[in-house]
Amino acid sequence: MRIFKGIAASEGMVKGKALVFRHASTVAERRHILANGIARELNILAKAMSEARLTIEEHTNSHLSDESQQILEAHLLMLDDPEYRQQIEAYIRTNLVSAQWAIEEVSEQYATLLAESGDELLAERADDIRDISLTLLDATSGRRRSHDLALDEDVILVADSLMPSELFALDKSRILGLVLDGGARASHVAILVRAFGIPAVIATGRASLCVNDGDEMIVDGSWGEVYVRADLTAAQLLDERYARWQEHEAQLREMVDLPTEMVDGHRVELYANIQGLVEVDGVRSSGAHGIGLFRSEFLFMERAALPTEEEQYQAYKTVLQQMAPKPVTIRTLDIGGDKVVQELGIDEKNPILGWRAVRFCLARKDIFTTQIKALLRASVHGRLKIMFPMISGLEELNAVLHLLEHVKEECRIEAIAFDEKIEIGTMIEVPSAALSADILAKRVDFFSIGTNDLIQYTIAVDRGNEKIAYLYQPFHPAVLRSIKMVVDMAHNEGIEVSLCGEMASDPLCSVLLAGLGLDELSMGVQSLLQVRQILRSVSSEEAKELAAQVLSMDSYQTINTYIREWMHDRFDHLTTI
Ligand code: PEP
Ligand code: MG
Repeated sequence: MRIFKGIAASEGMVKGKALVFRHASTVAERRHILANGIARELNILAKAMSEARLTIEEHTNSHLSDESQQILEAHLLMLDDPEYRQQIEAYIRTNLVSAQWAIEEVSEQYATLLAESGDELLAERADDIRDISLTLLDATSGRRRSHDLALDEDVILVADSLMPSELFALDKSRILGLVLDGGARASHVAILVRAFGIPAVIATGRASLCVNDGDEMIVDGSWGEVYVRADLTAAQLLDERYARWQEHEAQLREMVDLPTEMVDGHRVELYANIQGLVEVDGVRSSGAHGIGLFRSEFLFMERAALPTEEEQYQAYKTVLQQMAPKPVTIRTLDIGGDKVVQELGIDEKNPILGWRAVRFCLARKDIFTTQIKALLRASVHGRLKIMFPMISGLEELNAVLHLLEHVKEECRIEAIAFDEKIEIGTMIEVPSAALSADILAKRVDFFSIGTNDLIQYTIAVDRGNEKIAYLYQPFHPAVLRSIKMVVDMAHNEGIEVSLCGEMASDPLCSVLLAGLGLDELSMGVQSLLQVRQILRSVSSEEAKELAAQVLSMDSYQTINTYIREWMHDRFDHLTTI
C-alpha cells in the first residue's frame, strides 16, 4: 500500500482504478542497438518526422497570434532541413543507438551551437530546436496527450498537472476522482473539479510517477489523502470515515431552507458560483440566495469556435429563467491567465499579468460587444446583474461602462428590450482597485471581491504554483486589511459588497468574513450549508470582535493559529475545519 498526502481540493471519497497521464516531457530512451537494428530506428525516425509535421500543421491551422504562427513555421522549416535529419540518421548509424537518443543528442548539439554563437537572433532559436526535439520524442513514443485520452470506463485520473481546457475536453462523467502532483486550491482546475463534484487531491508531489494504470485507489478529497492498493485495515477505516462524512452531509441538508441568519438576526446572504449551465440544477436545490458569480468564460472554453450572440443569449436566458426571481450575477469574459482559449490567440510569456479579462475585451471589442448585447437581451428573462473582472482603475472601468452604454443605445435604436435597471458591479481583485475602491464605488452598484486574484496580486504569488503555495495566505494581514478597506469604502458610498473568491467557501473564514462586514458570500455550492451552519451559530457582535482582534495582529501565522483555535473552541464537531 502507498499513501500520498496532498491538498484536499474537492470533497468526497471514491474508489476506483487509476489512469495515469503525464505532460512532463518524455525522457529519451538511451538504448544501444545492433547493426541489423539500424533500419528499424531509421524507420522510427522517418515516422516521427512526418507525425511531428502533422502535429505542428494542426496547430498552425488554429487561430494563433502572428508571433505564434511564425514560431511554428520556423519549426516546420527546421523539420524540413535535410541537414538536421541527415545528422540524426548518421548519429544512429555511427553510434549504433536508438532514434530517441540520436534525436536528443543531435538537437542538443545544434541548440548549444546556436546558443553560443554570439548572435542574439540565432541564440533565440536554440529553444526552438529543443522544442522540436521534444515534439519528435513525443512522436516516437506515441506519448498520450490529454486530448487523446478517450475515457471509455470510470477511472481515477492521476496526472502531473491539468489545464482547465484539458479537463473540459475529457468526459467528466467517467472521472470518479482526480489526483494531481501539482496545483493549488485556488487554481481554476481545482475550482472546476469542485464544481463538477469530482473528489480531488492535489499537490501530492509524485503520485503520477508512482501509480500505474489499473492500480486500485481510494481518493479522500475531504482529508487530502490518496491510498494506492490499500490493505484491508485501511480500507475498513476509510469505510467508517465515509459513513461519518455521509452522516454529517445529511445533517447539513436540514439547513437548505433556513436563512443565513446570525443569532442576533443579522443576515449574510449566501450565493453560488457556477461555471456552466449544468450546475444550475444543483444551485436551485442548494439553498443559495442566487448566483453570485457565473464565470461566463467557461462558455467560451467548452467549444471549438466562439459562441455567437444568439448562443450566448440562449445560455444567459436559460440561467436567468431557471433562477428567477433570484438574482444572477454574470461576470463578463475573464479569459487569459490560466484560462486559455486557443482560438483567441492569447499566447504570452507572463499571462497572469498580461492580456486578461477586460484588458483583452477592450482590445477585442467585437467579442465584448457581442457578449454585452447577448446579456442585455437576456436581462428581460430574470434578475440579471453584470460584473466586470480585473478592473485596475477608473479609466478601465469608465471604458467598459462607456461600451456598455453604447451597446444599450444600440439596443434602444434597434428596439431590443432590456432591463434598464440592471445593476452593474465590478470585481475587486487587483490591489490598485482595492486601494481606489472609494473612487470606483461612485461608479457602480456593487462590488465583488475576488480574493483568489487579490491574494495572488497582493502577495505576488502565482495562485496555481505549488512551489510557492506556502506564500498564498488568505490570512496575510495585507489581504485582510484590503478586504476591510474595500468593505468600508463601499459602505461609505452606500453600495453592497460580496466576496466570491475561494475564501468564501472555506468554513474557517466564515465568521471572520462576516465580522469584516461582507454583505454576501458567493461560493461553490458544496460548502454553502456548512458556512450557513457556522454563521447561524454565532452573533454578528462576536464576528466583529473576532475581526477586530485579527486586524490588530501582525503575521498570517499568528492569525491562522488564532482563528483555528477560535473556530475549534466553538465548532469542534466540524470535520472540514
Ligand atoms: C477571484 O479572483 O477570486 C475570482 C472569483 O475569479 P477567478 O477565480 O475566476 O479568477
Ligand atoms: Mg479572478
